[in-house]
Amino acid sequence: MSYSLLVCEIGPIFHFVRRSRKAKDYWAASFLFSYLMCQIAKFVKHYGVIIRPNLEGDLMCNDTLRGERKVKAGSIPDQIYVVIPAEKKEEVKCRLKKEFERILEEIIRDVKEKNGMNSVYVDMNEVHEYFNLFFIFHSIKASYPSYDEFVEAEEKIKARSLTYCFTRQNRPGVKKWDKCDLCGERAQVYTVNHTATDLTDRERICSVCILKRFLYKAVEAIASEPKYESTSDIAAVPINRRYSELKNKPDVEANLKAVEDKYDRLVSWCRTNTSELFDVENTIKFSEPLGRCLFVESPLLKEFRDSFKKLEEKDGSLPTPWLERPFYAVVYMDGDNMGSAFKDSGKYFKEVSNTVSSVLTKFTHKAEDIVSQHSGQLIYAGGDDVNFMIHPEYLTGCVEELANTYRQLFAEGVAQSGDNLPQSIKEKLLNLSLSTGAVVCYHKYPLSEAIKRSYQTLTDKAKKVKGKNAIAVQLIKGHTETFTVAIPNALLKNVAMMKERIADGTISRTTPYRLREEEHLLDQLLMADPEKFKKYLSAELETTRGKKRDKKEVGAIVEVLKEIALVEDNSGKFSARTMIDVLLYLQFLTGRR
Ligand SMILES: [Zn+2]
Repeated sequence: MSYSLLVCEIGPIFHFVRRSRKAKDYWAASFLFSYLMCQIAKFVKHYGVIIRPNLEGDLMCNDTLRGERKVKAGSIPDQIYVVIPAEKKEEVKCRLKKEFERILEEIIRDVKEKNGMNSVYVDMNEVHEYFNLFFIFHSIKASYPSYDEFVEAEEKIKARSLTYCFTRQNRPGVKKWDKCDLCGERAQVYTVNHTATDLTDRERICSVCILKRFLYKAVEAIASEPKYESTSDIAAVPINRRYSELKNKPDVEANLKAVEDKYDRLVSWCRTNTSELFDVENTIKFSEPLGRCLFVESPLLKEFRDSFKKLEEKDGSLPTPWLERPFYAVVYMDGDNMGSAFKDSGKYFKEVSNTVSSVLTKFTHKAEDIVSQHSGQLIYAGGDDVNFMIHPEYLTGCVEELANTYRQLFAEGVAQSGDNLPQSIKEKLLNLSLSTGAVVCYHKYPLSEAIKRSYQTLTDKAKKVKGKNAIAVQLIKGHTETFTVAIPNALLKNVAMMKERIADGTISRTTPYRLREEEHLLDQLLMADPEKFKKYLSAELETTRGKKRDKKEVGAIVEVLKEIALVEDNSGKFSARTMIDVLLYLQFLTGRR
């Protein structure tokens, strides 16, 4: 029997996902692609065997496996590889495009029905024109491709999807005032009125973007509702968490009541004066993850904040640095060196593929829980990719746990493979790691821009750290003040220690600024002799005013600072600047100016 490798790819993912205004658009845009791919997988399964990704353990695709549980985010990548008998090729070719069109029509129908929007006219031509399913066939010799055959197929599909380009932006026929507010391209077919009185406070949505703004209700049977609707909700998380902690303490009761009263007043003010609460119908309690009122311009805001600070004082806890500083983060994580692990697999290609697939399936399930435990919102977890939104306070803790879990699961997978794999390949798998790019920005900073920059930070900064296995964070404080720090994951623990030293005043507020003024000298010392560099730093730290510090404590800090300063990029360059920027970033996190 002769076989053919069918590769299907869906697009344009990043183009669609990026054009999001609210946290829930972002979640839905990503979910949609996984959902569409899942339907395609269900169809092609009738013709052959899906060899990548491993959908056996996927909760989105397996109703019985999922049981009562709902999925938190999309999990199917944009490509699937299927081995089919060569004689089925023509039939698949004939039916696949039609099937994809049917799937799109079905989801549009569900979205309209479930949202009570049956009278809305959706232009199906625009939908079909925008979403694309590409596929290629590649003849293979056996029922499983060799590595070379796999790569050839990969190149074919890459070439195929490159032929699709976006020439349809700035459609000449669409008037400016008629354009969709999410994509800015197509004409609106639906208007969301946020308030009944203010007619300018509305959003226009086109035939394609309707699928992200209103997707949730159409998939609610299998997906749990995204926790946060807007970026302001994410910015409020540490305040809600602090409140939940304090709620259970006996001696804060009287002050608790004051906070709740002030909050209720703030909410009713928001209801009559702003559109911030437009999607919330019922009374909202303070413990709910809603931040839209907590950062709105209101004469009542100061009252609320004062009462909250009093509550913290009464408890004797340090004030949360986030009460007056609304920020959120967008995070992209991606596996390092995956390609090279396969490249060297030779005749063990199938075994390596199976080991990697089963590890990644386990990782995807764990990632869901880890992101939730750190109060984040998962956007996507599938293959070796994870994408989520989180409050900056919990960012590095969450990333560290995900990166450690990834490595640990590979160690377990390799141990279970026993004698099936040679030692050299096992070592490759044990060295697989996860890198991260993140953007931390103000809650009103455009989400679409944050998404774009976060992905760029991953590819242009984290992946450029020598040896990868790194995290890069871009902090956007104002529209002008921006910098990026990039360090190996291995240093995250030390960085957490340094954050504490900044919070308790061991490293003074002025230290990073003074070091910045001496950046040139520090670089020279670093280049000449790292020991001299350390001595210089010790003197600098010991002599600053403030807390009394002992030599041992300073020594430990200086050692970490030196390690950070010596972090190399992939061309072998290092600089004291890395250390200074890490200090400035930590200073931002602790709320000290
Ligand atoms: Zn649109």
